[in-house]
Amino acid sequence: MKKITILGSTGSIGISALDVIEKNQQCFQVVALAAGKNINLLKKQIEKFKPKVVAVSSKDSALKLREALTAKTKVKIFYDEEGLKEIASFPSADIVVSAISGSAGLMPTLAAIEAGKDIALANKETMVMAGEIVTKRAKKKGVRIIPVDSEHSAIFQCLEGRKRENLRRIILTASGGPFLNFTRNELKKVSLSQTLQHPNWKMGKKITVDSASLMNKGLEVIEAKWLFNLDISDIDVLIHPQSIVHSMIEFIDGAFLAQMGIPDMKIPIAYALTYPERIINDLPSLDLVKIGKLEFLKPDIKKFSCLALAYAAGLCGGTAPVVLNAADEVAVSAFIEKKIRFIDLPKIIEKILVLHDSINNPSLDDILQADLWARIETKEIIERIIT
Ligand code: MG
Repeated sequence: MKKITILGSTGSIGISALDVIEKNQQCFQVVALAAGKNINLLKKQIEKFKPKVVAVSSKDSALKLREALTAKTKVKIFYDEEGLKEIASFPSADIVVSAISGSAGLMPTLAAIEAGKDIALANKETMVMAGEIVTKRAKKKGVRIIPVDSEHSAIFQCLEGRKRENLRRIILTASGGPFLNFTRNELKKVSLSQTLQHPNWKMGKKITVDSASLMNKGLEVIEAKWLFNLDISDIDVLIHPQSIVHSMIEFIDGAFLAQMGIPDMKIPIAYALTYPERIINDLPSLDLVKIGKLEFLKPDIKKFSCLALAYAAGLCGGTAPVVLNAADEVAVSAFIEKKIRFIDLPKIIEKILVLHDSINNPSLDDILQADLWARIETKEIIERIIT
């Protein structure tokens, strides 16, 4: 029986993880959950999975949750950042699913590592912002970081049992998002609802916008650098509209290995939870005849310049990826609030990157400072655009 903590239990990954757990109750037990403000869903999760402790984002939400639960429901409720750390380091957990969206996932993931917990990592920002620190601390604590992101899970599976010196490069695949075949002119007019219609994957809003701009792939390139200890130049991206090949690796002799499957996050989530074992699921099997063809295209980085910005930040290293990520988070939320256009995203992020003096080998404090700085600067630039 694996004891599991989920950070971000009411988000897209959290919900899928709980679904995997519910269908495999003989294998897993939920011990702790952390959510934000979705008290209704968290209440249902508490009643079904009976965690010992939970955390919500504020004291107000904690009070609401206590009120919503029946008096006989035994669960300890924590709140705010301290509460989140409490949940992340809850002693009886074997593995922590890090699935909080955005940069808010960094500190609790670090707390889980400090507490010696294996990490099922769905929060790519943890690696983008502090990959060097996170990997060092995980190594020191003997903690395993198992990727949940479908591309990284694919690479992780392809690399299993292989000699690293035989690896030439890895290739991350990207669906290309809803605007793959749009012209630059058409991109100027895309709406929020069009952007939120991902062709293959069902995900949260932020990551869906990032998928449409290819920033998600850019963040994944940086995530892969740290997860697999690679140079940015050894990580390529291919557009693969069918989202069947989740990613691939190439060996020095030209042999490729790819991992395929239907696009359903429950597969990489279950693998991260059961690694190195696998479990049966009730998902449909991949029907390649029905799919018919698998296409691969070179990404158009002129049209989707977020990917180029992420490569540039990844190559620069230091705090540049922190700033890239923070600027993107602020800009994407402004886009979701319909304050800016889709095509403003890369322009804003580029401006912030140019303004930033990157610090090499940043401390955690440097990282948090750079994150804060980029948020303030990005908000200012957005204000200037909209007024
Ligand atoms: Mg992904």
